[in-house]
Amino acid sequence: MRILVTGGAGFIGSHLIDRLMAANHDVVCLDNFYTGRKQNLLKWINHPFFELIRHDITEPIRLEVDQIYHLACPASPVHYQSNPVKTVKTNVMGTLYMLGLAKRVKARFLLASTSEVYGDPAVHPQPETYWGNVNPIGIRSCYDEGKRVAETLTFDYHRQNQVDVRVARIFNTYGPRMLFQDGRVVSNFVAQALQGEALTVYGSGEQTRSFCYVSDLVEGLIRLMNSDQTGPINLGNPDEYTILQLAKQIQNLINPEASIKFEPLPMDDPQRRRPDISQAQKHLGWQPMVPLSEGLQQTVEDFSNRLSDRVSPA
Ligand code: NAD
Ligand code: UDP
Repeated sequence: MRILVTGGAGFIGSHLIDRLMAANHDVVCLDNFYTGRKQNLLKWINHPFFELIRHDITEPIRLEVDQIYHLACPASPVHYQSNPVKTVKTNVMGTLYMLGLAKRVKARFLLASTSEVYGDPAVHPQPETYWGNVNPIGIRSCYDEGKRVAETLTFDYHRQNQVDVRVARIFNTYGPRMLFQDGRVVSNFVAQALQGEALTVYGSGEQTRSFCYVSDLVEGLIRLMNSDQTGPINLGNPDEYTILQLAKQIQNLINPEASIKFEPLPMDDPQRRRPDISQAQKHLGWQPMVPLSEGLQQTVEDFSNRLSDRVSPA
């Protein structure tokens, strides 16, 4: 099959492309390299069945494909908040153009949505039927509301134009290839501990998140795309940790001497988050396989290798 991955040079997108290429698909990647890196795709660059196109999805493009995995959008609060208007454009115009493309060529379309559509959830854990608690004018809104509109567009194209759609609501995902400067919690703590810096816990550290290893997530995306389920379907790991527990686990794993420092909690930071994955279990036969301890080890190994590449002489 000819498969388009938008945002394919990013963290999740590049792992997805590795799986699609290994399954002998013809893969086209669109990326503007805002948070993605060509290095993530180096092994495919000269492959006859791989094409990398530098393109900003806020502009239209014409392509012939059978499936579209639509991932292009910065995912870290630091990046999506640095140009919030662009984040809204990417989610609204970018998703509109990709749905228009899917409609024209009759491709199946999968939206990488997010647990952020639940905002600071009043229901715990979060099932897909929960409509969320999102501040429409806060600093996270460009992303949260952007993704909510992206979901709306996806379902309107489905109802109005019969586009074959899938919506995945992805919960916090981590693993190798996250950027050092990504700003998300796992990459921050790992980079800080490896470089002998204090781990920065925001607020009291009692807020919770549930962390899914990237290989599990990619498996879920592929199963959803190839299922008969429209979704939305939650994809995430239901093992829930406080941020302080995560800090201590990474401290113990990398450097028990590393200190922890407390910094102010950013505005609208959700207090707790944990997916209800019963729909994914029932309809996709999917559940995460990689425990946090194992996923963190893989992540630390990748970060240490990249760090030694950086400091060693050319
Ligand atoms: P990432 O920032 O590593 O990847 C995003 C990719 O999109 C990058 O390669 C970036 O350059 C590209 N991009 C951004 N704006 C673009 C534009 N206008 N045109 C073309 N390319 C553009 O993030 P990620 O963690 O790999 O996330 C991928 C997708 O999954 C995103 O849509 C994100 O919202 C969603 N998601 C991720 C998580 C997570 O925990 N990682 C959680 C929920 C949802
Ligand atoms: N966080 C933290 N220290 C950091 C980065 C993040 O304590 O260096 C906290 C952040 O305030 C939030 C949680 O970790 O409560 C997860 O943050 P992240 O940016 O990874 O994802 P999101 O908030 O989008 O779930």
